[in-house]
Amino acid sequence: TTPKKICILGSGNWGSAIAKIVGSNVTKFDTFDNEVRMYVYEEMVDGRKLTEIINTTHENVKYLPGKKLPSNVVAIPDVVDAALDADVIIFVIPHQFIRKICQPLIGKLKPTTVGISLIKGFDLKEGGGIMLISHLIKEVVNIPVSVLMGANLAGEVADEKFCETTIGCRDVEVGKMYRDLIQTEYFRVVVVDDVEAVEVCGALKNIVASGAGFVDGLGYGDNTKAAVIRLGLMEMIKFCEVFYSGSKLGTFFESCGVADLITTCYGGRNRRVAEAFVTSGKSIEELEKEMLNGQKLQGPYTAAEVNHMLKAKGMESRFPLFTAIHQICLGVIPPSGMIDCIRNHPEHM
Ligand code: NAD
Ligand code: 13P
Ligand code: CA
Repeated sequence: TTPKKICILGSGNWGSAIAKIVGSNVTKFDTFDNEVRMYVYEEMVDGRKLTEIINTTHENVKYLPGKKLPSNVVAIPDVVDAALDADVIIFVIPHQFIRKICQPLIGKLKPTTVGISLIKGFDLKEGGGIMLISHLIKEVVNIPVSVLMGANLAGEVADEKFCETTIGCRDVEVGKMYRDLIQTEYFRVVVVDDVEAVEVCGALKNIVASGAGFVDGLGYGDNTKAAVIRLGLMEMIKFCEVFYSGSKLGTFFESCGVADLITTCYGGRNRRVAEAFVTSGKSIEELEKEMLNGQKLQGPYTAAEVNHMLKAKGMESRFPLFTAIHQICLGVIPPSGMIDCIRNHPEHM
């Protein structure tokens, strides 16, 4: 059989860290072609094209500075060129851009191509619903889509500090192929079949991380943050029970569940920006531009997406933490509303 061609669709902070792993792994297996094509949203950095910088210096100087990418990872500015012949596509761009990026691929992919989404967030549906990003990709480009989510802050992964991750995949053979492609000595993969719950965990924990940042910004301590994490976890579990029934409780104990929640509430961008929101009084959009150098937040957008559905269904009061975090992001209630929310949480009634 001919070696599988891999495309990485995205090249931000996480996209670049995963390119480092995949670029190295493909050379270890005959089953994978040694060239990895990485779609890069083109921009000028210090007067040069980012694709040209990556292809000559093998470093994504803007989104993962200081880390070398393997030289077999090739940056390509055209999404169709990057994905056309791919057997496997790794989707890893901020979720607000996924629909637009997938459009040019309609009808262009091989019928045997498979995909895996590393993207955290939801897409809005007309009439008050939301949709998983993996389902959106499947709907638009018509390929099966697995997911990968876990306690994986990109900088630490790029530094090769030990961590675990969770792949949600229903096809056992395809799951093994993903493990070969992605697992390393320092990045350990567990494959589970509870695909939707894995993805929902990854999306929702970013909302909770914004809440953790708010209480940090208010000057509260670790006990308070632990309460936010615990109540957030309870709402994540309830959310799966209500909207994705059939999900397994055990999935919350995988890396994609409690572990990703903890790491993001301590070390993530969503936490950091939410803290600054409280201490600076600036808007989330302003801080995202000021603090992240082009990287993107997911938490406040995801909170709005979830609220879009909860509001339409009259269920805001059943998810008070998600609701309060959204209202704080919008400025409808002050950050101190976090404390009122956790004090009066239905878990205490
Ligand atoms: P990022 O936050 O670094 O975002 C920057 C990327 O967005 C760049 O590649 C940029 O080119 C691209 N971009 C900017 N404007 C664009 C546009 N108009 N159209 C298309 N692309 C555009 O991205 P990331 O960290 O790679 O995150 C991708 C996904 O991975 C997100 O869902 C995130 O939640 C998830 N994730 C991130 C981390 C992490 O630590 N960074 C870890 C796990 C999961
Ligand atoms: P942040 O986007 O808050 O940095 O979280 C990254 C992440 O998803 C870690 O798994
Ligand atoms: Ca190979």
